[in-house]
Amino acid sequence: MKQSPSNRRQFLQSTGLTLAAASLAGVRSAAQPRLPGPPEKKLGYAIVGLGSLSINQILPAFAHCRHARVTALVSGDAAKAKTLATAYGVPESGLYSYATYDRLKDNPDVDIVYIVLPNSMHLEYTVRAHQAGKHVLCEKPMANTPQDCEAMIAAAKVAGKKLMIGYRLRYEPNNMAMIDMCRKQEFGKPKVILCEAGFNIGDPKQWRLNKTLAGGGSLMDIGIYALNAARYLSGEEPIAINAFEYTTPGDPRFAPGVEETLNFQLRFPSGILANCVSSYGVGLNRFRVHAERAAFELEPALSYSDLRMRVVRGGTVEQRTLPERNQFALEMDHMAESVKNNTEPRTPGEEGLKDLRAMMAIYEAAKTGKTVTLNA
Ligand code: NAD
Repeated sequence: MKQSPSNRRQFLQSTGLTLAAASLAGVRSAAQPRLPGPPEKKLGYAIVGLGSLSINQILPAFAHCRHARVTALVSGDAAKAKTLATAYGVPESGLYSYATYDRLKDNPDVDIVYIVLPNSMHLEYTVRAHQAGKHVLCEKPMANTPQDCEAMIAAAKVAGKKLMIGYRLRYEPNNMAMIDMCRKQEFGKPKVILCEAGFNIGDPKQWRLNKTLAGGGSLMDIGIYALNAARYLSGEEPIAINAFEYTTPGDPRFAPGVEETLNFQLRFPSGILANCVSSYGVGLNRFRVHAERAAFELEPALSYSDLRMRVVRGGTVEQRTLPERNQFALEMDHMAESVKNNTEPRTPGEEGLKDLRAMMAIYEAAKTGKTVTLNA
């Protein structure tokens, strides 16, 4: 029976539910919780590679997703996969090894494959996922070379599936606000952009310090954040690049082709200049924009949480605080919504390719000591 509003009120009053409903409404308006969507409407993700990022960030982030859930795990370590499957409610039928990976094709609960493997493996596992008829979210850097990126984009086209690169900061509220401040010219035209990303890397045996697996040194892994930020803050593509490299001689962490620190400068078509630093030797975590009437910055700028924004105007410093959100949940939800609505993801394969092309130009500029020019 359909209830009229007054009937409904009487019913709530008679059952003592008015108070509960009112207090729930109060909670909703005060905290505005983002409730997860119904399970059947969530798209299924297969997570490929159960290393540090998958275990510590991606799998826990599903609890904050509205449109995504984890339905499969791919790993070379069956025992680890089983333990994580139990913790995250992944059925036994959703467990795969690298040898059985192509059988994802027959799993209707997997819509999107998230590649979280060492950089050199992104190409192969993306192409195989597309061949299995799945959409792909691939971690940054997209691949080790622009040619590999092009092959991944082509595989997505042939399969008629979406390919997105995991640039989590493009879904993070503070970085989005910085982009908005640039585009709306809140403090006049942006003129100079400073982007720094780095950390002091440890274990010399890790894949990040192996040129074949990583594709390079700090630039491929962490400096890419500085490059990508200079591109999204300016909203332009670089037309000229200078670079200096320094790698401490004799440091056992750095083999040939695996650089420690790179300073690079980008010139954009509108005249915006960017100075960027990438390092495996020191901690760097800041994006700063100098506009005509003020400077605004994030520091930390690329951590997983607790980013801080400041606006520096004359002698005053203003802190701007935005609500904390899980970056990986936002990123995975965005991909799921792009699939559901058949829209282009904000960071498609073409975005990864642009970074790879610029990174190759940075390496060339550092090697030759000459300015490298690019088509915008
Ligand atoms: P990790 O070393 O912790 O994990 C890598 C996983 O790949 C491990 O489970 C390992 O067993 C598996 N693997 C399979 N074949 C391998 C091989 N031949 N050599 C080494 N490992 C192999 O690495 P991670 O930190 O999880 O990074 C994985 C990917 O995620 C990289 O592309 C990295 O750039 C990216 N990443 C992105 C972010 C981010 O914030 N978006 C952060 C960290 C890492």
